[in-house]
Amino acid sequence: MDNVVIAGAGMAGLHAAESLREAGFEGRVTLIGAEEHRPYSRPPLSKEVLTGTSSPKGIALRDDAAFDALRLDLRLGRGAARLLPGERAVELDDGSRVRADGVVVATGARARRPGTGLAGVHVLRTREDAEEVRADLERHDRVAVVGAGFVGAEVAASARALGREVVLVEAAPTPLTRAVDPRVGRVLTDLHRDNGVDLRLGVGVSGFEGEGGRVRRIRLADGSAVEAPVVVCGLGVDLNTEWLEGSGVALADGAGGVLCDARGRTSLPNVYAAGDLANFPHPRYGGRMRLEHWTNAGEQAAVAARNLLAGAGAAEEYTPVPYFWSDQYKRKIQLLGQAAPADRVEFVHGSPEERKFVAFFGREGMLIGVLGLKSTPKTMRYRPLLAEPTSWEDALAAAGVGR
Ligand SMILES: Cc1cc2nc3c(=O)[nH]c(=O)nc-3n(C[C@H](O)[C@H](O)[C@H](O)COP(=O)(O)OP(=O)(O)OC[C@H]3O[C@@H](n4cnc5c(N)ncnc54)[C@H](O)[C@@H]3O)c2cc1C
Repeated sequence: MDNVVIAGAGMAGLHAAESLREAGFEGRVTLIGAEEHRPYSRPPLSKEVLTGTSSPKGIALRDDAAFDALRLDLRLGRGAARLLPGERAVELDDGSRVRADGVVVATGARARRPGTGLAGVHVLRTREDAEEVRADLERHDRVAVVGAGFVGAEVAASARALGREVVLVEAAPTPLTRAVDPRVGRVLTDLHRDNGVDLRLGVGVSGFEGEGGRVRRIRLADGSAVEAPVVVCGLGVDLNTEWLEGSGVALADGAGGVLCDARGRTSLPNVYAAGDLANFPHPRYGGRMRLEHWTNAGEQAAVAARNLLAGAGAAEEYTPVPYFWSDQYKRKIQLLGQAAPADRVEFVHGSPEERKFVAFFGREGMLIGVLGLKSTPKTMRYRPLLAEPTSWEDALAAAGVGR
């Protein structure tokens, strides 16, 4: 193998490149990135970049010296347009082709954008998005946030930190419904309200209204309206898999993404996938999963790249303890494993009233997740319990909770 193409210059793409070089690969590594920037970190976009404590330029994942040391054939501002396995090539959106003996698919996801055509309606996925939201928050004192998933909840928290009036609209009955059991979701409801957010739960957005080409208000399904000169939408993502259509790489239904095995192999030889778009099996969770988590993107890409080099002998399996964190109102929320749907929830340290706790989540007699609020060391201590199957009783005993 002399030429490896990595499509996508985000967290997964960077780690794939580093892993190839660390494993001693001396051939050509082409990194194709649709954005103009060298790989940067997205988590600060909804946190430090919005509050102004970090500049958009300050979030590069590597400094120039470390990045240059990777000796990449770097194609920024260019998209991978087609994978041509028969010709061992990837075609770029300018029609040029790059030789590809092996490919790492790491093109991630893009924010789902409502088609309003109105200025002042934003999504948040890229550096440019964050700069635009930040500029609008500087000019206006009120913002509506649509969707109380992690991105929406963080935007609400950051806008409050800037002293803006915030209305947060969520169709589900609690924030973070997709990720967290409602018994803990209710704590997050209180957290937003304690911090002055006007939280409208259980009601969807039915339309956007503007004046002079700029948003003025959003209409809610219950007939009410929210006046807002700035709207930020956190409506989830669409995966950047279109360029693979017709290539023979199998794509998943349902949660979508690129189907791969635990080694990161797709349905085509020498084509691996990693990051937000990789749909992989996880034995401890009894099915396939796709993780939109920063840590996952890096770790999964490193494994995929090593396995690509190992070829037919590829043996390294990726069975992570899923990990996600979020920063809201000066509190860190950390989730290890899964927290929804759960049969059981137990607060093993602290309590919701203190706004500081560690909660265990159980399903079918087993521990499936640990969620901490403002309790980093205590939360992370339980990671080993999730790396192996652990019964609910043993987990409680490890936390010193007798049942
Ligand atoms: C605002 C925000 C806050 C977040 N906060 C957290 C957090 O606190 N904690 C956490 O764990 N996770 C967080 N995440 C999630 C985390 O950032 C993602 O899981 C991670 O970025 C995924 O990395 P990736 O490389 O798989 O995909 P991406 O980051 O999406 O990178 C893929 C890259 O590929 C490019 N691309 C797309 N199509 C093509 C193509 N055809 N050819 C070439 N390039 C292409 C894209 O432009 C992009 O640059 C956050 C995400 C966002 C948006």
